[in-house]
Amino acid sequence: MKYEPVIGLEVHVELVTESKMFCGCPVVDSVEAEPNIAVCPVCSAMPGALPVANERAVEYGILVGLALSCTIEPISIFARKNYFYPDMPKAYQISQFEDPLATNGELLIQTDEGEKVIRVLRAHLEEDAGKLTHIEDASLVDLNRAGVPLLEIVSQPDMHSAAEARTYAENLRDILRYLGVNSGDMEKGVIRFEANTSVRPVGTEKLGIRTEVKNLNSFRAMEDAINYEIARQSKILDEGGKVDQVTMGWDESKGKTYTMRGKEDSHDYRYFPEPDLPPLKVDDAWRERVRAELPELPHAKFKRFLAEYNLSEYDAKVLVSQREIAKYFEKTVKKKANPKAVVNWMTGELFALMNRAEIDITEIKVSPTALAELVNLVSEGKINKNTAKEVLGEVFEHGKSPKAIVEEKGLAQVSDSDLISELVSSVINAHQDEATSYREGKTGVANWLFGQVMRQARGRANPQILREELIRQLEE
Ligand code: ZN
Ligand code: MN
Repeated sequence: MKYEPVIGLEVHVELVTESKMFCGCPVVDSVEAEPNIAVCPVCSAMPGALPVANERAVEYGILVGLALSCTIEPISIFARKNYFYPDMPKAYQISQFEDPLATNGELLIQTDEGEKVIRVLRAHLEEDAGKLTHIEDASLVDLNRAGVPLLEIVSQPDMHSAAEARTYAENLRDILRYLGVNSGDMEKGVIRFEANTSVRPVGTEKLGIRTEVKNLNSFRAMEDAINYEIARQSKILDEGGKVDQVTMGWDESKGKTYTMRGKEDSHDYRYFPEPDLPPLKVDDAWRERVRAELPELPHAKFKRFLAEYNLSEYDAKVLVSQREIAKYFEKTVKKKANPKAVVNWMTGELFALMNRAEIDITEIKVSPTALAELVNLVSEGKINKNTAKEVLGEVFEHGKSPKAIVEEKGLAQVSDSDLISELVSSVINAHQDEATSYREGKTGVANWLFGQVMRQARGRANPQILREELIRQLEE
């Protein structure tokens, strides 16, 4: 590699408050809701309407700031960012500019070279714009989203590959979900990325000229756009050219970035303090009240799961990715079930059932107690794995106790070696040819015979005892 990429991310996060940032309109689902059902004089910019800051949105901002180890500024200032576009009838966005709510934080990410600190420059509050739908000869305006609270989180240019940027973004999404401030529904555009990318010759310090790719709505799009920019800019430098500082878009279908407009500076927005809102004051008492709401965060939980339950890094990562999944796991383990077995049943059969039913872990009928019971029935040899799958499916449908199902349906595993021995010899008697070819060296036949005995046992024989007995009799 001749060039080192330098990447910074700006992340816009929709906060899941009841009402909008500066008015009492409800926050509605911007994809499902009828257009323009949540609009009032404030968010449609009627003359004389005055904004009032949403207290809960401020608290969510503080919460995220604290989770990212930021300084929560005692005074921050709302400012007008002027721009002219039909999705924002005020012709400005209320944002924070020189004095943001949270500054100087960091996020720890796991990379191939170990842990790495990505510095967070700032996090500030602002409002979202409306939505335009372009039809043949007109554009339709939907203001449901105009004024929805946004938190913009800006990193330092501390990432050096698209993969690192993706890891940072995924970790950030996990944290936001843990805090309950964002739904994490990426396909609804509730988290949007802007990637600033430049390249410089390896070993040099001076930053290259960067481009900014806006409106990246998925991890995939973000990663692809960054990789595309790294390759494009490296080629320009190779050919002795100069990268233009531009604002770009990402064409998903072509897999290419394209220039939207030229170099953009903050003075283009004519920022000035919002005269209709007082400075936002966060005193120590308020900040500490919010701090008390902080849950154990994904990274800390990850470390604890590794140490406490002796899990693989992969398993621990899957479990901590969502707070509810981690909680379910711990509740199950507390019912005296083996942690490793619990992870396997969760990430295997249970997640598959959830995917098929399109529900999440908070909606399932399998209680942690039931899963623990199931895991223990298997580990105690009372049922085998195949029966356990059948039982789990039943619990998933009807929410009954695994023990009750096993009893009701007579599914208990047959471990009685006399009985298994009888079944084995009757199968061998009925299939003399196969037994002979086994003895002549075609040992693969044993699997087929195993299946025959298991069928006789209606799937309930202890597989280990069965196999041992089968081999013993074949080799007699
Ligand atoms: Zn409104
Ligand atoms: Mn912004």
